Amino acid sequence: MKTVDQINFKGKRALIRVDFNVPLDKSFNVTDDNRIRATIPTLKKILADGGSCILMSHLGRPKEGPEEKYSLKHTVKTTEALLGRPVKFAGDCIGDEAFRLSAALQPGEVLLLENLRFYKQEEKGDPGFSEKLSKHGDIYVNDAFGTAHRAHASTTIVAQFVKEKCAGYVMAAELANAKKVMENAAKPFTAIMGGAKISDKILIIERLLAKVNHLIIGGGMAYTFFKAMGGSIGKSLVEEDKLDLAKELIQKAKSKGVELHLPIDSIAADKFDANANTTITMNMAIPNDWMGLDIGPQAREVFAKVIGNSKTILWNGPMGVFEMEKFEGGTKAVAEAVVSATKNGAFSLIGGGDSAAAVAQFDFSDEVSYVSTGGGALLEYFEGKVLPGVAALD
Ligand code: AMP
Repeated sequence: MKTVDQINFKGKRALIRVDFNVPLDKSFNVTDDNRIRATIPTLKKILADGGSCILMSHLGRPKEGPEEKYSLKHTVKTTEALLGRPVKFAGDCIGDEAFRLSAALQPGEVLLLENLRFYKQEEKGDPGFSEKLSKHGDIYVNDAFGTAHRAHASTTIVAQFVKEKCAGYVMAAELANAKKVMENAAKPFTAIMGGAKISDKILIIERLLAKVNHLIIGGGMAYTFFKAMGGSIGKSLVEEDKLDLAKELIQKAKSKGVELHLPIDSIAADKFDANANTTITMNMAIPNDWMGLDIGPQAREVFAKVIGNSKTILWNGPMGVFEMEKFEGGTKAVAEAVVSATKNGAFSLIGGGDSAAAVAQFDFSDEVSYVSTGGGALLEYFEGKVLPGVAALD
């Protein structure tokens, strides 16, 4: 797979799939510009070569054609500020005006096309629509790792209609970091899995059992394991249909020599509420009307020790309901342990929406090795699936 570094863009129009799917407030201001910021180096490299950039992206989930609240024109000002140059905007991605603007684009100029998902053909991966998109540029660049697991028109199919294609810096970095963890991890390698449900993470956990030395499990999914082991978990989150699976995973970890670390205690609450009463409980014996909403102090200590001895750390999913202050402590303690291990030379990759959000909430994003923007795409990569958007660049 080529990257932008292996191509000279002088005099070329680069058609770039970016990820400008950013949150907007009620007045349509961008409230988190990280995804736009991330792709700026790719744009700067192309512009510095003497090329021009045609940017395409989706924003939100429009249902039936154009909707004001999903217009990418709301991202123009932010992009201009981050890039330090003007950005033209086409009010449609395949209309006459869009083609007029892309054809007239001069070296050093940037054009942003309107939301691709205003056309149903985008998510369907429609070949006709993809071919039309391809006409905007000479070289196709994909810098949207977050949608690489979808065989959509702009992420995958469009590549069939271009002669030259490559990955942008975001795409290349995401893949390099994910690969480093899955194929070249320095040992001890610790995976930390959290979040609400086991069912979302079974495939990854199974695959990780073949690679890691330690598997830490926290968050809501831990209680299914305790119930499977015969514990009383009160009103904690449980997936009744995954009890056997939890037992199997415990056995598999044993047979593969992986040390499985479940949280011994919890911060339990009397209701799922930011102002709930709380108590510390052992996870095998949570009282009837209580629910575990965060890992407890003993678990934090054990987890921190394991993390501190690790050379590679992969973290997906919070340790508790970190959105509520009373239950953020466990996730924060794990984040602190990851930061400290990173300072001592470990490689740490934080992936999946909620763990990235948690690390940002505690202001630790710059103190870990890499925070993936990938969400679903990263998880599918870890499950061992081929990402169509990546395969299309080969
Ligand atoms: P996921 O998307 O599977 O990574 O799950 C993330 C969500 O799990 C977050 O919104 C957390 O609030 C939630 N969560 C974490 N721990 C618990 C818990 N013990 N009980 C209920 N929800 C939890």
